[in-house]
Amino acid sequence: MQPDDFCPRPLTSATSGSRPLVEPIHLSTVYQCEDPADAAARIAGDIPGYVYRRDNHPNAQLLADQCALLHHAPRAAIFASGMSALGAVLLALLKSGDHLIASSQLYGRSLHLLTSEAARLGIDASVVDTCDLAAVRNAFTPKTRLVVAETITNPLLRVSDIPALSELAGQHEALLLIDNTFASPVVCRPLTLGADLVLESLTKIMNGHSDVLLGLLCGHEAQWERIPQVATTWGLGANPFECWLAARGLGTLALRVEKANANAREVARQLARAPGVERVIYPGLPDHPDHALAQRQFGECFGTMISFSVSGGLEAATSFIRASQQIPFCPSLGELSTTLSHPRSTSHRAMSDDLLQQLGITENMIRLSVGIESPEFIMSALHQALEAVAT
Ligand SMILES: *Cc1c(COP(=O)(O)O)cnc(C)c1O
Repeated sequence: MQPDDFCPRPLTSATSGSRPLVEPIHLSTVYQCEDPADAAARIAGDIPGYVYRRDNHPNAQLLADQCALLHHAPRAAIFASGMSALGAVLLALLKSGDHLIASSQLYGRSLHLLTSEAARLGIDASVVDTCDLAAVRNAFTPKTRLVVAETITNPLLRVSDIPALSELAGQHEALLLIDNTFASPVVCRPLTLGADLVLESLTKIMNGHSDVLLGLLCGHEAQWERIPQVATTWGLGANPFECWLAARGLGTLALRVEKANANAREVARQLARAPGVERVIYPGLPDHPDHALAQRQFGECFGTMISFSVSGGLEAATSFIRASQQIPFCPSLGELSTTLSHPRSTSHRAMSDDLLQQLGITENMIRLSVGIESPEFIMSALHQALEAVAT
């Protein structure tokens, strides 16, 4: 063999036959096929196996299988981001002339995709408060194919009544898609409550280490026919290294979420009595508008997010954020450490003043993503920053 001949030859590693405890990262973009029949059967999906990485690869499949178990989902697929998972739903299941209903409290990009972008494809959207079931009922048209809501919304932490939305969607032969990013399957498994499809940004709580951008879609066989085809045709698939990292993050999901949930409960209770705090929003508090629904739907786990308002206006919020030494201002969520965000200047900066006022998303509102530190550490960090508000 000449040196030139070496590089193109596929070599087999000397350790093959030994079984590593941890799944390797499969970077290969292509796989060897035995013969034409084998290649054709694999590409058609008639037999298991991989051919080309954009179609599927072992790291994405492993992660999808783990997520399917977590969500009790017959089918699951991994996408390059939460947004590409939502894009896949639109492209696979809707067509020009269809109508959808979107919750007015959806993640900003989701709302943009389901309204402005969908309109360019000839898909009409009604944006309604999906906590108001009468408003949802009135929004259906004979062409409604999809209803989209979030399990727990940002930053008001409103809770969707998934069984009721599922019943309404079912009556109109529409599908219910639930974005479960703020809950995670530890708090809620929407498919078991009647949702047809579940979406999660794995970027957040599921990976949990702030180093991966990925999306998940779960659903039933009946809706799945076009999903893999759309994912590979539009090139929406995920990178193996990110799937490998997310699978590692999933290993501690239950531990992380249970700890952060317990922390959030305690922090919400203490914040409600803290000087310099005007209002605390947390579904686990009895004064939250969806407290009873959250108890019914989630049991004793109310999620890891808390919103609160500091006394004063934007200036007070700015003082608080600048003084916050231990809790960084990072406009995302689901990290190991507690982080904070300021909805008015980040996630909700594009929303009209009217709607912000109507919803009660004020300039003095801070949103916390509670992490896995000790509750004492989190409270002392918050008190330290609150001192700046009082002075
Ligand atoms: C972040 C987020 C998304 C989008 O996910 P990406 O992974 O950032 O594309 C969708 N919905 C919610 C609720 C999110 O928080």
